[in-house]
Amino acid sequence: MLGKGVRWFDDWFAIEQVAPGVTAIGEPRFHQLNWNYLIEGSRRALLLDTGPGVRDIAKVVRTLTNLPVTALPSHMHFDHTGGLAAFDNIAIADLPVLRNCVADGWLRPTDELYVGYWEGMTWTPVKVSQWIEVGREIDLGGRKLALLHTPGHSPDSVSLLDAEADIFFAADFVYPGKLYAQIEGADLKAYLDSARALLPRLTDTTTILCAHGKPDAERLHAAPRLARQDVADLAASLTRLRDSGERPDRWPVNDRLSLLLWEPAFATWQSP
Ligand SMILES: [Zn+2]
Repeated sequence: MLGKGVRWFDDWFAIEQVAPGVTAIGEPRFHQLNWNYLIEGSRRALLLDTGPGVRDIAKVVRTLTNLPVTALPSHMHFDHTGGLAAFDNIAIADLPVLRNCVADGWLRPTDELYVGYWEGMTWTPVKVSQWIEVGREIDLGGRKLALLHTPGHSPDSVSLLDAEADIFFAADFVYPGKLYAQIEGADLKAYLDSARALLPRLTDTTTILCAHGKPDAERLHAAPRLARQDVADLAASLTRLRDSGERPDRWPVNDRLSLLLWEPAFATWQSP
């Protein structure tokens, strides 16, 4: 069931060392096939996404690093924030849409941002330890990660760029398979703007690590990877879609990706 270089941690989590100091923690038995990333510097580690919370990811992380760990969700969807409450140190992207979700010091995203009702998940309130300004670099010691706002899939989506290691942690912005833009909060104008803003920051050798996997032809699971060309194809395909004036419920990007769509995602495109 697991690809080369991927090992089981237990009967739920899969582990893949994808680059020095970068460990992918996958959940190939969860139907959304989530992949979370533990990124280590010399002083601190950052966990991008905490999975759906079906199992305790904090336990996995503790065996992988002795560094203090900050958990950062790429966005509030339930399959990325499920294990968040198990972490003491929680960083959240400093976006108005997320600041608005704090009351009495507790973060509680709206149903539209969390969408836990899809699968009967309920939010566990958390205290935010740190608000990280978008565009800012997170310094882990010997490794800097730029926090980039990449709305489109959701308004609160962020991604991380490690320019020195040439790795882009895309989260749900792009991943192999069907991109979800048929959900509350999806915005095709934002998707296209994000893709265009991102392209100059990626190189032809950038490894793009994604938050949802897809088994290969042999049905083996590994940390999902894409390339800059996929983001270029996404931008081109969104441009074609906008210019076509069509409102389909799916749209091809390339042989690895396609978009799932619904009418509200087109709202901002009414006047080109
Ligand atoms: Zn999502």
